[in-house]
Amino acid sequence: MKILISDAFDPSLPGRLEAFGEVTEDKDRLPEMDVVLIRSKTKCMSDYIDRAKSLRLIVRGGVGLDNVDVDYARSKGVQVFNTASASAVAVAEIAFALMIAVPTRLAEGHIGMMDKQWLKKQLKRTELMGKTLGLIGAGNIGTELAMRAQAFGMRVLAFDPVLKQHECAELVDRDTLFAQSDYISLHVPLIDSTRGMINAETIAQMKDGVVVVNTARGKCVVEEDMVTALESGKVRAYATDVWYSDPPPDDCPLFGAPNVIMTPHLGASSKENMLRIGDVVIDILTDFSDRTA
Ligand code: NAD
Repeated sequence: MKILISDAFDPSLPGRLEAFGEVTEDKDRLPEMDVVLIRSKTKCMSDYIDRAKSLRLIVRGGVGLDNVDVDYARSKGVQVFNTASASAVAVAEIAFALMIAVPTRLAEGHIGMMDKQWLKKQLKRTELMGKTLGLIGAGNIGTELAMRAQAFGMRVLAFDPVLKQHECAELVDRDTLFAQSDYISLHVPLIDSTRGMINAETIAQMKDGVVVVNTARGKCVVEEDMVTALESGKVRAYATDVWYSDPPPDDCPLFGAPNVIMTPHLGASSKENMLRIGDVVIDILTDFSDRTA
């Protein structure tokens, strides 16, 4: 079996994969590869899959499959897997960090101190305790965030059309979530029903001064509408790890907007998560080899 590691994985992975066959990071050898391992950088769309003449398996180290044309791959007999739940803790921790950075004024305090400014009087604080967190999407990551929010004394609501019950969030419809949440955090895949789901119309349904946290996908939020809402104060802060493209272009409207907290798509990239992803990749390849032997 020939395996191409096309994106960055834990450094231990190439050695662990040698038990399955030849391992390379040379992308020019794509046409002879049986297996391609990707994260979010490599785009496995139809032209890529057509070039990979021997391809039988794509493994996406991570959750979202929006960088793979899954239907096209399957139509060509190529199996596609992700490492589903491996990243839940890592992403929930970034979501929580982005959320708590807003009431604690962490970013402004830090930037002020770097500039030798003592903003003790200016930076009015609030607390998470007693506030309502609304999760849009309450799968693996949303659930991990819900548990952390509950530990901080938050009430947790969730809108997720697939779920009938949830162990640590109160399931509500979307209108209720928008009307009652002080913090809204996105944990959905990028699909037709979620693309641009946070826009001028849905923001208007939210509480004045709501905080929106996005660790799902940049394109779930209409950036221009978010900037307008930040400028008017309707949205108190937008804390995001995700972008229309990685990295965002210099003219990304969020760069000039007030009350934005930004991280460079760090959600899944904890050391522990990279090891967990490697373990799941090995499990998938073991199963694939057994099935195709
Ligand atoms: P998951 O599949 O466990 O949960 C997603 C949930 O969203 C599901 O329960 C589903 O029913 C729900 N959902 C789908 N459409 C919806 C809609 N229109 N409205 C409300 N809910 C809807 O996935 P997960 O592991 O929790 O990951 C969620 C997303 O987080 C991924 O798809 C990916 O886009 C993103 N992600 C980001 C990072 C990062 O680095 N920031 C890392 C991993 C995943």
